[in-house]
Amino acid sequence: MSCDQPVGPADIAEAVRQILASHIRMVDGRCRGCFNQSSRIIPHPCTPFDWATAVEARNLTLKVVNA
Ligand SMILES: [Zn+2]
Repeated sequence: MSCDQPVGPADIAEAVRQILASHIRMVDGRCRGCFNQSSRIIPHPCTPFDWATAVEARNLTLKVVNA
């Protein structure tokens, strides 16, 4: 297995990628992804973004540990 492989199921890695790509802080501090998906005004970082960054940080930590 390549060390570039994400830790965990591929669908989780894909979900993280999509969240990080779409849930972006706008100039007024709102989350663009949440607003586009549900027209809700949510301050960034939103819950999905927090989840994605937590998963990504955990995967990076595991990669370092396993290196
Ligand atoms: Zn969001």
